Amino acid sequence: MKLILLGPPGAGKGTQAKMLVEHFGIPQISTGDILRGAIKAGSPMGLKAKEYMDAGALVPDEVVVGIVEERLQQDDCAAGFILDGFPRTLPQADALAVTLKTLDKELDAVISLVVDTEALVARLAGRRTCRDCGAGYHLLHEPPRKDGICDKCSGELIQRDDDKEETIRNRMEVYQQQTAPLVDYYRNLGLLSEVDGMMDISAVGQRILEILKA
Ligand code: ADP
Ligand code: ADP
Ligand code: ZN
Repeated sequence: MKLILLGPPGAGKGTQAKMLVEHFGIPQISTGDILRGAIKAGSPMGLKAKEYMDAGALVPDEVVVGIVEERLQQDDCAAGFILDGFPRTLPQADALAVTLKTLDKELDAVISLVVDTEALVARLAGRRTCRDCGAGYHLLHEPPRKDGICDKCSGELIQRDDDKEETIRNRMEVYQQQTAPLVDYYRNLGLLSEVDGMMDISAVGQRILEILKA
């Protein structure tokens, strides 16, 4: 199963990717998570990426394309993978096509999660992430059992720097301008399925699994 999860910030890509990891036993490749890992590790790539991420802008294509190229060649991607947050621009989509061709792999599906802007802003504003294991929560929709504490590892739950109001607006604009064209790109390739991402988390997950079975 080789998939792309497409959708604006807060659409539920990460949440559904985690469900699919459990269901299919294939890895989630989140460029956002990889970049945040590089920032945490203080690597040169992380330092460079941080400026863009803090501003809610996209990290340059060559950086993320390099990350994904390398990641897709690892053994655990042999049976499939879930791309979460990549590609985000037309050049990234073209680069992915070239990489997959070289590796003799083909995409099975692109799932586009559709959520209205107001709901996205509320989801991002209420999103909390475990500092230690990266598990995701929402203050209202997916609250932890204990306030501020991760259910899985007891780590501290934090708000991402780029989930602050000013940055959220900018990320929405960047999505409209640079990423939204990918919906037509994959529709033209006959790969796109749109899913109503306004439903609750488990209903969205069910719908995705139905589509993948068909
Ligand atoms: P979200 O899940 O809210 O959409 P991500 O964790 O995917 O956010 O991405 C956070 C930030 O990381 C983005 O705003 C961008 O700066 C950077 N980033 C992640 N993936 C990409 C990508 N494919 N291309 C460029 N920048 C990226
Ligand atoms: P993305 O990776 O697309 O940026 P996330 O999966 O991180 O989005 O979800 C953003 C926030 O919204 C998280 O706090 C998550 O718990 C919550 N969320 C995800 N899916 C839903 C849903 N279907 N309904 C309500 N809240 C959701
Ligand atoms: Zn945790």
